[in-house]
Order: sequence, then structure tokens, then C-alpha cells
Amino acid sequence: MTKKFHPETESIRTQIKRSEHFEHSNPIYLSSSFIFEDAEDMRASFAEEKQHNIYTRLSNPNNEELVQKLCKLEGAEAGVSFASGMSGIFTTFAALLSQGDHILSVRAVFGSTHSLFTKILPKWGIQTTYFDYSDLDTLSNFILPETKILFVESPTNPGLQIFDLELLGEFANKHNLIFIVDNCFATPYIQKPIDYGAHIVLHSATKLIDGQGRVLGGLAVGKEELMQEIKAFSRNTGPSLSPFNAWVLSKSIETLSIRLDKHCDNAFSLAQFLEDHPLVKTVRYPFLKSHPQYELARKQMNKGGNIIAFEVDGGLKGGQDFINHIEMCSLTSNLGDTRTIITHPASTTHSKLTPSERSLVGISDGLIRISVGLEHINDIIDDISQALDAYSN
Ligand SMILES: *Cc1c(COP(=O)(O)O)cnc(C)c1O
Repeated sequence: MTKKFHPETESIRTQIKRSEHFEHSNPIYLSSSFIFEDAEDMRASFAEEKQHNIYTRLSNPNNEELVQKLCKLEGAEAGVSFASGMSGIFTTFAALLSQGDHILSVRAVFGSTHSLFTKILPKWGIQTTYFDYSDLDTLSNFILPETKILFVESPTNPGLQIFDLELLGEFANKHNLIFIVDNCFATPYIQKPIDYGAHIVLHSATKLIDGQGRVLGGLAVGKEELMQEIKAFSRNTGPSLSPFNAWVLSKSIETLSIRLDKHCDNAFSLAQFLEDHPLVKTVRYPFLKSHPQYELARKQMNKGGNIIAFEVDGGLKGGQDFINHIEMCSLTSNLGDTRTIITHPASTTHSKLTPSERSLVGISDGLIRISVGLEHINDIIDDISQALDAYSN
């Protein structure tokens, strides 16, 4: 198909060629290897002179369809799928960097990405410098001859800080850096980093792309030549996504737009409720006018997303007591599920940081993170409301 459709249509109509059975929906290709006509067919396939699946560590029709869909949605040239978000992030950095290289990254990165930067990559002499704002003067001072990658998450987790993708894209080009954006919190339905100069977009497909809390998956999409390097590294090191999970994720993308419309509408209503509530100290949501970077969020995001952070009184104890009074919403660490999920980062996901490290990334002791789900908004608000009335701060 050469006609370009709207993203909602691409999510549904992007599909690889069907088999001789003419199935409508895509079947699952659970086959570890693929067969050849004869010796010449096999030789040419191994020589990459023709497109032919060889072995599922290298490629599989389900993975291909998933990658093609995400490429269309993100506006990317090519992509690779991975067993999890983290295997995609690790493989991308390991494939593109060499001993002694240097990364510039926003400070408030996902926890395991932080461990990758501070504990794992340093084993190969790769160092990371964190920055806190899209402030180009400060950033210029951090550039070393070895700096290769500029890495950004926006909005950040769970502080919902917004980084200026356009400014950072120009900065990366000026300094010849590979600009990588983890777009997991926004998805391409809300924000398209490639439009602002990102060379690679990463996803934990486990989150809003699956959207139903079922499977792990990761994706990297972007410039063809970078994807070739990542693909070559991945083929030989084996972080491949299971075709079954690729099939689940490809089906999930079909409903991404309608799920996100509802996620974001619910989140905006809950954010407004929390802002008016006398027992809530502060609320962070990108599309609330009170967000310190509201204008920037409006510029680079179509919607505010489904994550809200707010503060209750009473510090660590107050935060824990609040979640102990939650009745319907789930207490778990995932996000982007149909079910509304509540976490208390200071006592869980970010408990290993010192209080001063937590405050640098916007996590106070009483901060609560909500991944707003698809239940009826009144039921979500009722649950939060009764927990706010009942907890002791
Ligand atoms: C969850 C998450 C990851 C890691 O993804 P997994 O699929 O759990 O490996 C990376 N980045 C962000 C922003 C995430 O939320």
C-alpha cells in the first residue's frame, strides 16, 4: 500500500502480506526457522540478496508487522523489536557506543535505565552526565569529545517534567550527537519525537502499546543506518521478541488511538478533581495550566497522557497510608494498563535513591503516581476521593 492514511487507519491497515489461506487477521507464526526451495534460494537468503525469513532470532513475520506499524506511526525509516523495553534500550546503547564513549541524559530516567547508565555501561568505560533542564548553555558545558548520544525521556517518570524536543534536536544536530527519545509515556499518538529531530525513538511496548498488562516488549525505530547497526548487534546477541508477543502488540496498536483518547480524558478529569481537592498539596499533569511547562507540553504533545503525580500530606507515612486506603485501583508498578494503577514511588520504585536524589527528580515523600485506566471516571474519582478522606496524614 502506498497511500498514506491517518494514524488511526495505519494502526489497523498496516499489515504484512497474507498467506495462501487469505486470512483477514494476522496469524501467529510460531516457527523458529523457515524453509528454502533449494541451495541457491538458501545461499541468496543468507547472503541477504533477497528478503527471506531464516530464523526467528533474526526476523519473523509477526515482528515485522509490529515494527512496520510503529515506523508508520512514529514517521521512522526502520526499526527493531525486542523482548522488553530494557532489552531494546540496552541493545541500542551497546550497539552504538564503544569503550570510552559518553552519554548526555536527562536525570529523571526510568529506574533500570538509570542502573544501565550508572552501573552497567561504566563496566565498558562508558560514562553518563545528567542534566535537569533543556538549558543549552549548561548542556554545551557538558559536551566532551567522546559525547555520542543525547538521551531524553519526556514527560519524565514520575515527576512529569517536560523537555523541549525541538531545542534538544537542534542542539544534537549542531554537536553531531545521536538524539534518542524514550517515548513510552506519550506514544506516537501523543508525541512524535522524529518531527523534532530525534534519530531514534525507543518504547517499552509493555506499557501503553500493549495497554492491557499482558506481555513485555520493546521497540527501537528511527534512521535506517542506525537501525542497521542495532539490527546487526541484535541478530548476534539475541534479545529477540517472541512472535506471540509481537502478535499481541500488533493487535494492541489497532486500538491505541481510542484507548489513548479515553485514558487522556479520564486523566484530565481526575487531574482537575485533584487540583480542587483541599487535602492535595500539588498536582502535576502536563495539560493542567498549573504545570510549570504547560505551554511547552501543549506545543509538543497532542494530549496530556495518562499519568498524574500528586502530593499528599504526611510524608512517607502519609503516602503509604493513602495507598492503604485504596479499594478499587490496583497497587502495582506497571503503567498504561486498562486498570488504574497507583504507586508510591518514594517507598517503592525510587526507594533506593537518597532523599536528595529523589528531590532532584521531583519525587517528594508524599508523592503518588497514578496511571489512569479505562474504568468509568466516576468510579476512579470515587476511589481516590474516599482514600483521601480516610487516610491519616
Ligand atoms: C517500563 C519502562 C521501561 C522498561 O520497559 P520494560 O518493558 O519493563 O523492560 C523503559 N522506559 C520507560 C519510560 C518505562 O516506563
